[in-house]
Amino acid sequence: MSDAINEHFDVLIVGAGISGIGGAYHLLQQCPTKSFAVLETMDSFGGTWKTHTYPGIRSDSDLYTFGYGFKPWTGPPIATGEEILQYLDEVVEENDIARHIRYEHTIETAEWSSETKLWTLKVTQTGHDDQLTFTCGFLWMCQGYYRHTDPYTPEWPGIDQFQGQVVHPQTWPDDLDYANKRIVVIGSGATAATLIPALADEAEHVTMLQRSPTFFVARPNNNELADTLRELDIPDEWTHEIVRKKILHDQQQIVEMSFKYPDLVRQELYNGVKAILGDDYDVSAHFEPAYRPWQQRIALIPDGDLFHSIAAGDASVVTDEISTFTESGIETKSGQLLEADIIVTATGFDLSVLGDIKFTVDSEPLAFSETVGYRGMMFTGIPNMVWVFGYFRASWTLRADLISEYVCRLLHHMDGRGAQAVTPTLRSEDQDMELLPWVDPENFNPGYLMRSLHLMPKQGSAGPWQHTQDYWTDKDELRVADLDDGALIYT
Ligand SMILES: Cc1cc2nc3c(=O)[nH]c(=O)nc-3n(C[C@H](O)[C@H](O)[C@H](O)COP(=O)(O)OP(=O)(O)OC[C@H]3O[C@@H](n4cnc5c(N)ncnc54)[C@H](O)[C@@H]3O)c2cc1C
Repeated sequence: MSDAINEHFDVLIVGAGISGIGGAYHLLQQCPTKSFAVLETMDSFGGTWKTHTYPGIRSDSDLYTFGYGFKPWTGPPIATGEEILQYLDEVVEENDIARHIRYEHTIETAEWSSETKLWTLKVTQTGHDDQLTFTCGFLWMCQGYYRHTDPYTPEWPGIDQFQGQVVHPQTWPDDLDYANKRIVVIGSGATAATLIPALADEAEHVTMLQRSPTFFVARPNNNELADTLRELDIPDEWTHEIVRKKILHDQQQIVEMSFKYPDLVRQELYNGVKAILGDDYDVSAHFEPAYRPWQQRIALIPDGDLFHSIAAGDASVVTDEISTFTESGIETKSGQLLEADIIVTATGFDLSVLGDIKFTVDSEPLAFSETVGYRGMMFTGIPNMVWVFGYFRASWTLRADLISEYVCRLLHHMDGRGAQAVTPTLRSEDQDMELLPWVDPENFNPGYLMRSLHLMPKQGSAGPWQHTQDYWTDKDELRVADLDDGALIYT
């Protein structure tokens, strides 16, 4: 391995998913003099939307808010994976971003030096033995939150006995033939809800096996306001902005209602499912979770397709636990035998902390879990680094956009001060502050996060150390947040 520096950039963006492409756009618009590159492991952009190719892959939130603020969305609110890739492709094309992206570049290590005030990255290029060395002033982590290469599969007894095929949605085989097959999908999240109606048409039968229910909301996959504005020939930019504002306004009300009147929201969600599945269906058993609405994201089911597959008898739900896999399927704890040719493990992700990159700060290995988050995006003791961690309840990209604006403002501020480094540091008044988990498990508690919460930074109980996961607070605060609040130390 050579120690020679191959290239230097003012900013390096890790990952060419929706966050990284958005970051590149903002840099080009707001910091046009900064040199930058996007380093991406895969051979194309899209991240999540490139990795996931299972039948029916689609967003579970609307594209007016999951799309960027700067690029109008003109399709139906819930988009297919392909439509999202097409949208990203247009952003890349229209803004000449492709020339900044280095594909098949995997960052292995990131070392900060306080002497040079630079990050040094060791990067492996797919198919090459030698590592490349990049340096940069600022590291913009857009690597998402889960491991793209290794899906999460719990250890189930007897799985080796099963004679059929076991498939994970994250590594869906292109040539999987599921026509006339009996399929069991293990899982209750958005992925299972998406897959089931997509498989149900061709499969003999699809059974959703879930340990516990999830909240879903069935909605027509169109937006009346957007349709009206389009009929009136309103420009796409305006329509995007107006519809986005309306959706966010409505969502804020739903979030507030969920906290204030959880039982009412629960009843509404229950009624929505009941309306499709009918009085004889046990909605409580299969679609009424124990958690409160919005403790996990409520996935939109476009046109209620999941429920229509169940109503038509093409799919069914079993709420039970796995006792063991057998040669021909799954035996549940209550003794049901679910015969299957294919078992799909829609069991979620493994959280990837900082893209599995080995970090050091002045030669010391980074103890990330001992840091405290600054506004949920920077971390105490880690200079010149931002991690884009989007929203769980609202669309991820809303926060990615806000963070992009913040980073550009911060870079200008550093230039204005003649600073080369900025490091979040607890002030004297913060020393006795209570330190809390990165997210409040009472507030949001999906499995992938709960399994790995101990690896994540802490958040503080006050001020810029909080990670609120609240778009409506962030949108007012982040844009005007004081960059000289004494917690950001410039050198
Ligand atoms: C199936 C599915 C559906 C979803 N639907 C929604 C939705 O509707 N609404 C919503 O808000 N959220 C949704 N999410 C969450 C979703 O992941 C995010 O919203 C968003 O796509 C994340 O974008 P990202 O660019 O931050 O990260 P990712 O999409 O994860 O992209 C990260 C990129 O970084 C690259 N990378 C990682 N580590 C390295 C490294 N060490 N070196 C180089 N490159 C690296 C990866 O290869 C990847 O391309 C969904 C997630 C999944 C899995």
